[in-house]
Amino acid sequence: MENNCLACRAPLGKVMDGVFDTRFGIETPYVIAKCKNCNLEQTIPLPNQGELNELYEQYYNFSGERNTRYTQLRAKFINSFLYRIWLAIDGDISFHLACGTGSLLDVGCNEGRGLEFYKNHGYSAEGLELNSRAAEVARGKGFIVHGSTLEGFTTENKYDVVVLSNVLEHSLNPEDMLRAIYRLLNPNGQVWISCPNSQSWLRSAFGRFWINWHVPFHVVHFSPDTLREVLKKSQFEVVKMRQETPALWVSHTILARLFAKPGQPTRQLRSAVLVATLILLIRGLLFPLLWLGNLIQRGDCMVVVACKM
Ligand SMILES: [Zn+2]
Repeated sequence: MENNCLACRAPLGKVMDGVFDTRFGIETPYVIAKCKNCNLEQTIPLPNQGELNELYEQYYNFSGERNTRYTQLRAKFINSFLYRIWLAIDGDISFHLACGTGSLLDVGCNEGRGLEFYKNHGYSAEGLELNSRAAEVARGKGFIVHGSTLEGFTTENKYDVVVLSNVLEHSLNPEDMLRAIYRLLNPNGQVWISCPNSQSWLRSAFGRFWINWHVPFHVVHFSPDTLREVLKKSQFEVVKMRQETPALWVSHTILARLFAKPGQPTRQLRSAVLVATLILLIRGLLFPLLWLGNLIQRGDCMVVVACKM
């Protein structure tokens, strides 16, 4: 194996090969490997930051997707009261229902959808976003959005909360990312993290079609143990850790299993009718399974609150 563990430099052992991008159709096959020392799982070959930046520019540039039926329906749903009810049932993995006070920084705030929820629920919310077009949209909603990398970001005013909603698994150096957050937080500050759980039952059931491999964008694949470990190494203590299994992630995994082929974008993932129907069926029929998976630590998403040690 050409790479060593990105956290501890120890050798890696292969756990799954032939993993491919099931969303956009990037042709390269990847391997999932596990560190023989610290058990952290990672995507191999590890892309470097330059390659990742190019991939984000090419595939994560959602302005081309504006005003499609899928995005219009999604926006309508998120702005409706139904969305709150849905989050209460399906699980709130982006802290959209969290209420409180204090200053908050949303890392990777995109177009500011989360910022609106945080502001409406009492927080003084700012964002950090590298994609200039997305940052402009968020600024248009009246938010302060910093265009810097987290590691390069400095501020006089520290934050009470930093949000990493599905961000940490994208980082080539999660420990450095958390250390940077540590410096940005007030003494009683908290980091709120959500990220996929590599111990998910969906990973076991669907293998390389699990939607949250999301290679090559997901560089690291955390389990509850490896996530706790990186938090501890960066001087954070876990206050709360729960698991959720969003019906959207289950339906995307099923659609990937049915339709994804290497080198081809999976259009079905963006079909509003197909996705909505599957989500309702899954939530309605499989709820005991989703609930049980979360209970035994095999849910699909970890939702964590950690404070400074
Ligand atoms: Zn390691």
